[in-house]
Amino acid sequence: SPPSPPPPELQLQDVYIAVKTTRAFHRSRLDLLLDTWVSRTREQTFVFTDSRDEGLQERLGPHLVVTNCSAEHSHPALSCKMAAELDAFLASGLRWFCHVDDDNYVNARALLKLLKAFPQTLDVYIGRPSLNRPIHAVEPQPHNRTRLVQFWFATGGAGFCISRKLALKMAPWASGPRFVDTSALIRLPDDCTVGYIIECKLGGHLQPSPLFHSHLETLQLLGAAQLLEQVTLSYGVFEGKLNVIKLQGPFSPKEDPSRQILQCP
Ligand code: UDP
Ligand code: MN
Repeated sequence: SPPSPPPPELQLQDVYIAVKTTRAFHRSRLDLLLDTWVSRTREQTFVFTDSRDEGLQERLGPHLVVTNCSAEHSHPALSCKMAAELDAFLASGLRWFCHVDDDNYVNARALLKLLKAFPQTLDVYIGRPSLNRPIHAVEPQPHNRTRLVQFWFATGGAGFCISRKLALKMAPWASGPRFVDTSALIRLPDDCTVGYIIECKLGGHLQPSPLFHSHLETLQLLGAAQLLEQVTLSYGVFEGKLNVIKLQGPFSPKEDPSRQILQCP
């Protein structure tokens, strides 16, 4: 038989971007995303929340996913959203799943460049390691025994991506209600659970990337010249101090209210 043609070069249309949010952040965070990076990735971006919102519904249409997950800040509630994101990605048929939080900025061009570098046949899990060592978890075993496991995971607050081939293999631990069950089993949050499934159940590995950023790191260290290469950015408060990227811009705080939001998060 003739050799099968190589898969077409990856395009942004092949990437599924899931944003996790909650009722309390619809105005203060989501509106800002829609005015900025989501306006460039509208077709690829799906926002997962816990409460109806007419304003968001109007702006996002079917790209707003109102889950049945609870609006509380608990492991089950957050894992419920991650499960909804993964299920919707699997149903979409797209080539890459990328998760971000609602306080992330996504640079679509840098994201595409990063993902393009991987052959389509690879199992890829890429993001910023949350810690500088593997995390430990206690895995319950039959007959009341336990096993200590250790694994790396990508911090959800910096965003991470998973190739379709790997996401499909995760299904036995991640699809439908199973993700919440897996998370409850090891008693860890949603982003840790993703790492646990990939590294402990599937033998995969987190590929660390310095291009993903959360507000847990000192964002002032990122120079303006490096910004265009970064895949994700964030903002927030860390140890009581404002943690934002230092960048002179042409917009006054009045023209760009996000600066005021950044100043009083
Ligand atoms: N979040 C949520 N439910 C909550 C609280 C937070 O879904 O009850 C989401 C929030 O929208 C964000 C992510 O979880 O996408 C992380 O929340 P936040 O940035 O407030 O906290 P962090 O963990 O970064 O300090
Ligand atoms: Mn955050």
